[in-house]
Amino acid sequence: MNSSVDSVLALVRPDILALTAYSSARKESKGGRVWLDANENPETPSAHQQLLNRYPEPQPSDLLAKLATLYGVSPTQALVTRGSDEGIDLLLRTFCRAGQDAILITPPTYGMYVVAAGIQGASVVKVPLVQAKNFALDAEAVIAAALANAAVKLVFLCTPNNPTGNLLNRADVLKVTRALAGRAVVVADEAYVDFSGQPSLASEIGANPNLVVLRTLSKAFGLAGARVGTTIADPAVIAVLQKVIAPYPIPAPVVQAALAALSADGLAAASASVALLISERVRLAAALPKLAAVKELWPSDTNYLLLEVADAAKTMAAGRAAGVIWRDRQKDVPNTIRITVGSPDENNATLEVLARV
Ligand code: PMP
Repeated sequence: MNSSVDSVLALVRPDILALTAYSSARKESKGGRVWLDANENPETPSAHQQLLNRYPEPQPSDLLAKLATLYGVSPTQALVTRGSDEGIDLLLRTFCRAGQDAILITPPTYGMYVVAAGIQGASVVKVPLVQAKNFALDAEAVIAAALANAAVKLVFLCTPNNPTGNLLNRADVLKVTRALAGRAVVVADEAYVDFSGQPSLASEIGANPNLVVLRTLSKAFGLAGARVGTTIADPAVIAVLQKVIAPYPIPAPVVQAALAALSADGLAAASASVALLISERVRLAAALPKLAAVKELWPSDTNYLLLEVADAAKTMAAGRAAGVIWRDRQKDVPNTIRITVGSPDENNATLEVLARV
């Protein structure tokens, strides 16, 4: 293990580092014929679902291999989680000591970082994105704030950012990562990167062991209901996260659904879906500024658009009255709402309702 990996492990909670991981029966029992090791029931209640009486593999090897290929990394650099939300939670619990450590976020950004910090008892340092520069990352300010506060263990950079929709500058993210080597882990949350046309930061992990990338099948692959995320990190970091994750986190039917989504047909369907959503985003982005209700529209690298309206409460109410639900983002940016790019019909509903506001 090289010294830069050691310097990342030095950021892990000492009690987690010292913990002996629970060794699940299924991990220890490869190649058996009669499985009497895990107190399972020999029968399954469902005639349609094979093997539901058995615990799944702790990290389903077929799925892990497919996800690693999809993301261009080695299986040892990947951990399958229940959505990328679980990755956020695992990172907090692994790196932040309650009442002592902190995370750094760049508001306006995804709300779960603060919630996960609150659950873990970590405090939150905020370095806002620069609204005047289309919500660009202020890399120097992030570096300065993190270096000034030794409690900061995790820096969450959401790229593309939710709710503003913009991809952060790759060179800036890497600059922050390098400047904080040995001081903090930089988490690049790439939940929406599939809609950006830009490459993932995952290829940079080899050279930067303090970089972690979060991906998900919830958006581009349409599997939000299945809850499949991937945390991508240095193998030594993955090994520590494996101590913290639940013993059998990914249910067998979810593994089957995800494997189908990652088959050749599934991959083709996902790229067609992403292409349609991008073309619908372009159509909405052209039509929305022509409506009187829309005051400003920010460019988006995602499957949603952030817009400023004359009156966000009134706009949301008009949507609700028509059965169309958007997301009020006033607490992030004054008078804004966030609209997901849906099917062509759903997007027509957005345009029709907004035209009447
Ligand atoms: N990161 C960001 C930026 C998100 O917007 C979301 C979904 N709202 C997630 C992570 C979590 O997604 P999931 O748990 O479905 O993978």
